[in-house]
Amino acid sequence: MNDHLSERINNMATSATLAMAAKARELRNEGKDIIGLSLGEPDFNIPDFIKESAKKAIDDNYSSYSPVDGYADLKQAISNKFKRDNNLSYALNQIVVSTGAKQSLANVAMVMLNKGDEVILPAPYWVSYSDIVKLADGVPVEVPTNIDTDFKMTPAQLEAAITPKTKMLWFSSPCNPSGSVYNQKELEGLAKVLRKHPNIFVVSDEIYEHINFRGGHVSIAAIEGMYDRTITVNGVSKAFAMTGWRIGYIGGPSWIASACTKFQGQITSGANAIAQRATITALEAPVSRIQFMIDEFHKRRDLILGLLGEIPGFNLNIPEGAFYVFPDISSFFGKTLKGTTIHTASDFSLYLLAHAQVATVSGESFGNDRCIRISYAASEKELREAAARIKAALQ
Ligand code: PMP
Ligand code: GLU
Repeated sequence: MNDHLSERINNMATSATLAMAAKARELRNEGKDIIGLSLGEPDFNIPDFIKESAKKAIDDNYSSYSPVDGYADLKQAISNKFKRDNNLSYALNQIVVSTGAKQSLANVAMVMLNKGDEVILPAPYWVSYSDIVKLADGVPVEVPTNIDTDFKMTPAQLEAAITPKTKMLWFSSPCNPSGSVYNQKELEGLAKVLRKHPNIFVVSDEIYEHINFRGGHVSIAAIEGMYDRTITVNGVSKAFAMTGWRIGYIGGPSWIASACTKFQGQITSGANAIAQRATITALEAPVSRIQFMIDEFHKRRDLILGLLGEIPGFNLNIPEGAFYVFPDISSFFGKTLKGTTIHTASDFSLYLLAHAQVATVSGESFGNDRCIRISYAASEKELREAAARIKAALQ
């Protein structure tokens, strides 16, 4: 039946993160004791004060369509948040609220890209970037980085990747999947290159901004020459554990925001009203109210690094943010374990699923074929058990 489907969908890859999570769920339903470290989703409950505001929004009859680009008071809260946390001034007509940061990204791709426009993706990049870009007829241009440089793209690498067709650079910091955080100096280095190419726009995905163990998150839009051509993407999924409530947003040039609103007006009519009301409460709260989650992730990062560090063959760096480790496991390539020869990161990830019953995601779909991604958004008990099982399966 695929012949009857569009080329667009036939050419699209299934989201590897969601596919692995579905596979783990399926195996669990069959009675297997799978530890899921594949999905990047906080394992905390939404803080009660946010839940309360959603309940109130229902009682207050927030049941109609919201404005397509989001409620004005939510956009004001977002504007205040950008000022408070990012030193960025966005007026309300520069902000668009969407159904998750994923949709924010898709909107931007659909309104900015023409056929053949190149989008630079420092690899590893978040799994959906390349397929979102391709959906909008853009061409992903991967810039490979490796563990020795903490998976960060250098200014020279950026410069070398630029061609007359380059339209955009998309990146996340803190990065999914590597957990790397670009500091001020590193972003200034990239900005210096970009200032020479005024037609290149930047998508700065800052959804993990608060999950930063070094502190001092820097937004590239706040660096000289970048504000007018950066789209800053954020959302409440990670910092507030609100993944299922599906709220993301952008701040950027007003003409890009208007185009996103126009597009969204034909596709979704705007984000969920109740979740938007709750997002106001979330964003107005001081960061101290979610500090417990950040502290917990920090503790778990140290735990998982210690545990995986004891396993021969795992090459690890120290990620400074998000909730992922991205070990280079290429030392296993060519080895045969329990009758299975490991040729690729996918083979390795599937081997762990079969023999350790631990779900991870292969680095291939993130643009790196030597690593796997392990999410440590799981309890200490699960992390200890997972590491013990992995160690045993690899002996
Ligand atoms: N960007 C990155 C880097 C992510 O890891 C995620 C995870 N879901 C998203 C965007 C999308 O977030 P959401 O759609 O849940 O807001
Ligand atoms: N962003 C998360 C991840 O990378 C959630 C899954 C998804 O949205 O693809 O695992």
